[in-house]
Amino acid sequence: MSKFLNERYRKLESYVPGEQPKDRVFVKLNTNESPYPPGPAVIAAVNSREMEDLRLYPDPECGLLKDKIAELTGMKRANIFVANGSDDILNFAFMAFAGGRTEVMFPEISYGFYPVFARLHGLRYREVPLKDDFSVDPADYVCQNKMIVIANPNAPTGKALSLYQVEQIVRTNRENVVVVDEAYVDFGAESSAELVHKYENLLIVQTFSKSRSMAGARLGFAIGGEGIISDLEKLKFSTNPYNINRLTMAAGIAAIEENGYYEENCRKIVETREYTADELRKMGFNVIPSQANFLFVKNDRIDGGRLQSRLREKGYLIRHFDTEKLRQYNRITIGTRQDMEGFIAAISEIMEEELQ
Ligand SMILES: *Cc1c(COP(=O)(O)O)cnc(C)c1O
Repeated sequence: MSKFLNERYRKLESYVPGEQPKDRVFVKLNTNESPYPPGPAVIAAVNSREMEDLRLYPDPECGLLKDKIAELTGMKRANIFVANGSDDILNFAFMAFAGGRTEVMFPEISYGFYPVFARLHGLRYREVPLKDDFSVDPADYVCQNKMIVIANPNAPTGKALSLYQVEQIVRTNRENVVVVDEAYVDFGAESSAELVHKYENLLIVQTFSKSRSMAGARLGFAIGGEGIISDLEKLKFSTNPYNINRLTMAAGIAAIEENGYYEENCRKIVETREYTADELRKMGFNVIPSQANFLFVKNDRIDGGRLQSRLREKGYLIRHFDTEKLRQYNRITIGTRQDMEGFIAAISEIMEEELQ
C-alpha cells in the first residue's frame, strides 16, 4: 500500500478468487466453471472478421445482445442490463441502491464478494446467520427496510429458496431493492425472473460464466423493472460505457442462439452431480443436497484443509474456505462424468490411506 491511497480504501480487504494455476495441469473443480467448451456458434462468432472490427468501439447500448436476452427471458429490452460479468453488475447494484440511511443485508454464509462490495462503497451492512442446516430463512428478510442481496441457489451451500419464498421477501420490502443473484439457477432451481413484472424493486442477476461456459469472456446480465435498470445504466455510462467488448458481445449473442446446447450441458452436469453426491455419501461424506453445479461436503474423518491438499497432490483442485464455520467443508465443482469418476477414485484412495 502506498501513502497515496485514499483513506477510504485503506482497510479494504479485496475478494480472493479461487486459484487459476499455470504451473501444471489440474482437474479444476475449484471455481465452478463449466467443464464443457462454448458451443460451435460461439466459436464461429469470434472470428477474424470480428477481430478486424476490434478497431471500432463496441455498441455501448448493447442493443442486439439485450434483445436476445429479452427474447430468451420473455422481457423487453428496457428490462435488461448487461455488464462485464455479474460481479460488475453486483458492484453497480451496491453502488446504486444502498448508502445514506439505506443499509444492506445478506446471508452470513454466501458469496464472498458481497461484504467486499459493501465495504468498498462504505455501506453499513448486516450479515444474517443461516439456519443450522445451512438454509436461508426467508423470515429473517421480511419487512427489513434494507437493501437485500441473496444468492439463489446460495453459494457455497447449493441450497435454494422457492419462488414463493423469494416473493415474500420482495413483497415486504417494497421501499428497497432486493437483488437475487441467480448465478447457478440453470442447474435446477426456480428463477424468480417472472416476479419482475409484478415488483419494481426486484433485480435478478444472472451470468454466462457458469451454465454457458464463458467465465473467461466476462458477461453477466440483470433483469429488472425499467426504473432500476435505467439507474444501473446511468452508473455504467458514468464509469465505462464500453464495458462489454466486441468479442464478448458476439460470443454472448451466439450463445443465446444455441441455448439448447447449454441446456443439455446443464442436464449432464446435474446428472453427474447426483452421481458424485451418491458416491461421496457411500464413503461417509455429509453432502448437502445441491441445486447448483457444485457440492458442499464434509467428512468427520478428515479435516477439510487436509483433504484439499491431499487432492491437490493427486491433481484435483477443490475450494476450501478457512473460516470457523466452513473449515470442515469443501466445495467441489462438478466436472465431466470422467473427471468425477477419477475424482471419486482419488478421494477413495485418500480415505483409505488416512485410515491406516
Ligand atoms: C460466480 C458467481 C458470480 C460471478 O460471476 P461472474 O459473472 O463471472 O462475475 C456472482 N455471484 C455468485 C453467487 C457466483 O457464484
